[in-house]
Amino acid sequence: MARFHVMTAIPYVNGRPHVGHALELVQADVLARHRRQQGDEVRFQTGTDDNALKNVQSAEAEGITPAVFVARTAERFAGLRDVLDLSFDDFIRTGSDPRHRPGVERLWAACAQQGDLYRKAYAGRYCGGCERFYADGELTADGRCAEHETVPEVIEEENWFFRLSRYQDRLVELVETDRLRIVPAVRKRGVLSFLYAGLADFSVSRRVDRARGWGIPVPGDPDQVVYVWYDALANYITAPGYGTDDAGFDRWWNSSERVHVIGKGIIRFHAVYWPAMLLSAGLTLPDTIFVHEYLTANGQKISKSAGNAPDPAQIVESYGSEALRWWLLSEVAGTGDTDFTADRLVARANEDLANNLGNLVNRTVAMVHRYRDGRAPAGTGPGPETHALRAARATAGPTIAAALAAFDFRKATEAVVAIGHAGNRYVEAVRPWELARAERSDGASPGRLDGVLAELLAAGRDIAHHLVPFLPAAAARIAVQCGQPGARLPDPEPVFRRQEAS
Ligand SMILES: [Zn+2]
Repeated sequence: MARFHVMTAIPYVNGRPHVGHALELVQADVLARHRRQQGDEVRFQTGTDDNALKNVQSAEAEGITPAVFVARTAERFAGLRDVLDLSFDDFIRTGSDPRHRPGVERLWAACAQQGDLYRKAYAGRYCGGCERFYADGELTADGRCAEHETVPEVIEEENWFFRLSRYQDRLVELVETDRLRIVPAVRKRGVLSFLYAGLADFSVSRRVDRARGWGIPVPGDPDQVVYVWYDALANYITAPGYGTDDAGFDRWWNSSERVHVIGKGIIRFHAVYWPAMLLSAGLTLPDTIFVHEYLTANGQKISKSAGNAPDPAQIVESYGSEALRWWLLSEVAGTGDTDFTADRLVARANEDLANNLGNLVNRTVAMVHRYRDGRAPAGTGPGPETHALRAARATAGPTIAAALAAFDFRKATEAVVAIGHAGNRYVEAVRPWELARAERSDGASPGRLDGVLAELLAAGRDIAHHLVPFLPAAAARIAVQCGQPGARLPDPEPVFRRQEAS
C-alpha cells in the first residue's frame, strides 16, 4: 500500500487566517481525500509557525507575552478544520509542541556534524515581514522588499551560517531531473535560474536579544536562537517524529511520496534551503513541491495591514463551506493570481452546484418518486444519448486522477461538472415525462423508462463518488438521495441551496 504524506506550509500567526490560507489548506485536503479514496495510507499535516519575530512584535504591540499571543492566534488557524471541513491528521504548533524542539536540535546537530554550520559576523538588509536578508540586487529600484513594499532594516551581528554553497550542484541536478519535482513548470524554471546564479551561505541564527528571547536556543550557544525559517521548515520532520519517535518518522518521512503545498512567496525556502538542510542531515527529500499563486480580493493584493483580507470563517457563515471550497478548486488559476469576490463565488456555486449537479440529482429523484413510487429501477438506457452520458461517466475517474497528479484542480472539478451536463442533456433528449405518458396512455412497456431512470441514478451515484475529495458532505448527501438499485429512495431534497448575492 502506498503511503502519501502531504503538508501545507505553516503560516506565522500574527493575524487572522485569510482566504489565501484557505486555498492552500483546501488544495492539500483534496489531495489527501483523493488518495484515501484510492486506498492509499495518507498523512495530511499542517500547523503554525509560532517562533517568528513578527509574533513577538505583534504581542508587544498588544502588551501580552508571545506565548499568550501565539496560542490565541494559532487557535483560529486550527479552527479552520471545522470551518472548511478539512481532514488533516496532524497540526503542529512550533512554539509549544513537545515534538518540535528536540527535532530542531537534532537537525542542527546533524548539520553541524557535517561541518555545514559556522559562525561569522554579518551585515545585511533584513525584511522583518519575510524574515530574511536581502542582497541589494534583490530589492526594488527604490530599495524595497517586493513582497512587503517596505525598506529592509540594516542589521549587523554575528550569526551561525549554513554552508548552502556546498549543495548547489546537487540541487541543480535534483531539480533538473525532477527528482525534486517543482510544479508548475514556470516555478521550476525560476528555481533553476536562482540555482544557476550561484548560492551564498545563509545565516541560520539570530542574536537572542533581537529575538527577545523567543525561539529555540542554538544548541551549545545560548546567545543565539535558531533562525525562524530553519526552525519552521523542520516542522515537516519533527511532527512525524524526527528526534522523538524514530518509527513514526521513518514511517512518514520515508513514505512512498512526500508532497509540499506552498505559496509562491516562500518557494526559495522550500526548493533550495530545505532540501539542502535535508541533504546535509542525510535525510530523505520531498518528492514534489506544488506552488500555488496568490489570491487578490476585489482587485487588491491581500494584506493584513490594508484590512481587506477576506476571512474564511465569515465567507463560510454567509455562503457555506461548500461554496467556498468549490470556488477555490474550480476557479483559482494554476498560473497568475485570481481575484476573489463574493459575486464570483455565488455565480460559480449556482452554476455548477445548484443548477447543474444539484438539479440533475433532484429532478432524477423526483421522477423516481413520481413515476416509480420512489423505488429505484434497474436496467439500461436506450440509444446514442445513453452512450454520451456513459462516456462522461467513464472518463471522469481517470481525468480526475491525472488532473490531481498534475495539481490541476480546475480540470478535476470540470470532470465532475461534465457528468452533470451530460446527465441534464440526457434528460432533455430522452424526455422521461413522455415515456411515462406513453406507458399510461399507450400501454408501452416500462422497460424504457426504467432504463432511463436507472442510468440517471447511476450518474448521480458517480457524481457522489467523484465529489468525495472536493465536497465530502455533499457527496454523502447525493449518495443517500440516489440510493441503490431496487431500494426505495428518500424523499427528494435539494442537495445544494441556491446562493443569493449579498
Ligand atoms: Zn518582505
